[in-house]
Amino acid sequence: MGAGPAGYFAAQALQNLQNDERKFAIDMIERLPTPWGLVRSGVAPDHPKIKTVSKVFEKIATADGFQLFCNVELGKDISVEDLTKNYDAVVIATGTDKGRKLGIPGEDLRGSLSAAEFVPWYNAHPDYVNVDVPLDTDTAVVIGAGNVAMDVARMLALEPRELDCTDTANHALEELHKSAIRTVHIFARRGPEHVAFTSPELRELPKLEHTDVEIGEPDIENALKRVSELGEIPKDVKSNLDAMMAIAKSDKRGKERKLIFHFLASPIEIKGKDRVEEVVFAINEVRNGRVEKTDGTHSVKTGLVISAIGYQAEPITGIPFKSGIVEHENGQVTGTNIFVVGWAKRGPSGVIGTNKSDAAAVMELLTSKLQNPKDNFDLAKYLASKGVVHISQGNWEKLNSAEVSAGESYGKPRVKFTDRKEMLGFAG
Ligand code: NAP
Repeated sequence: MGAGPAGYFAAQALQNLQNDERKFAIDMIERLPTPWGLVRSGVAPDHPKIKTVSKVFEKIATADGFQLFCNVELGKDISVEDLTKNYDAVVIATGTDKGRKLGIPGEDLRGSLSAAEFVPWYNAHPDYVNVDVPLDTDTAVVIGAGNVAMDVARMLALEPRELDCTDTANHALEELHKSAIRTVHIFARRGPEHVAFTSPELRELPKLEHTDVEIGEPDIENALKRVSELGEIPKDVKSNLDAMMAIAKSDKRGKERKLIFHFLASPIEIKGKDRVEEVVFAINEVRNGRVEKTDGTHSVKTGLVISAIGYQAEPITGIPFKSGIVEHENGQVTGTNIFVVGWAKRGPSGVIGTNKSDAAAVMELLTSKLQNPKDNFDLAKYLASKGVVHISQGNWEKLNSAEVSAGESYGKPRVKFTDRKEMLGFAG
């Protein structure tokens, strides 16, 4: 269940576990008309290299025994019970697509949204085309210090012309071209030594052609002092601090667009009448290695605040969930033939490649639990009998080619379609 990176790597792991005596039939089911999950609707459009992993997915999908069933929704078109009854094993790879809430006053005002809405909006996810993203404000605030927050901040702070040759959704590109935003503030609640950004992503920032990226040099000096007092600085922390110091020291060329980093500030309130007008932060301090709130506050006038503070899973009927992920033991839902991989298993952390080793371990466990195989289940026939139109690998290849062709004359890798009817048409 779920045609994202975790699902494909699970399928690949099963393919690698085949031998002369044991072959697997793998049906991959996906709710959307298109596969690839976060590679299509999560990865930032200005990071096309990361998306080349889709070539691996297509190799997995065209191997013997693999069938793709997109446009099929679990719980609506087929139930968990139908799956567990008819298949030897069911692998949940449905990710965590709901944004965590800040839980502060004003969070529901217009102009306050989650990265879990903004990212799929600019990535042409069919369910997020109509997200209300008011860009008619000169200042935006992004909350969070992870790579998603960085993607969001960069997308807002970029000169939109830099996105013209990418696969950014047409509706988002149009809005970004009209955007009044010129300053983007990104807020971390802890210090530079604690951020979840990774250094390759930080090192890219000074290369932005039309945006000055600002970090206060004293912020990094103080962080370096604090971590050196604790002993040897961990390699990833050192690498991040070096990358942030390079940003702090980089030439600021008085560009019209700015991306400014702030540390040790926790959001406590979003103010506004009918929409966001201001965000108030508590100022924090690091005392004896612990981050603590002070009595001080600081506020920023803004019309748009996007929180990128992690994700959780939307529960699925028939599957036990706990703390925003599937409840499991080493990847197996206890006492069932249901297994879980990816963010639905581990929670929302790790890069695309992390799913490879994780899925391989769970598929080893899955194969060790297999007993006499059940008769092959004809999912295509089952869906047809219920009037469900699914998109097969062949249909997806047609839709994929149509999107790629649509992008060619604009110099884009593709134009992503968002209308389900239109997508079914192109898929044949
Ligand atoms: P993340 O890396 O876990 O970062 C979440 C951030 O939100 C942390 O800085 C956290 O701060 C902060 N936060 C949590 N609750 C908060 C609150 N109430 N108020 C203020 N801040 C709060 O999550 P992510 O950015 O969603 O990324 C998920 C995973 O995808 C990560 O492993 C990431 O590296 C990966 N990813 C990779 C790429 C890439 O490779 N280019 C791009 C996007 C995502 P604390 O640390 O203080 O809790």
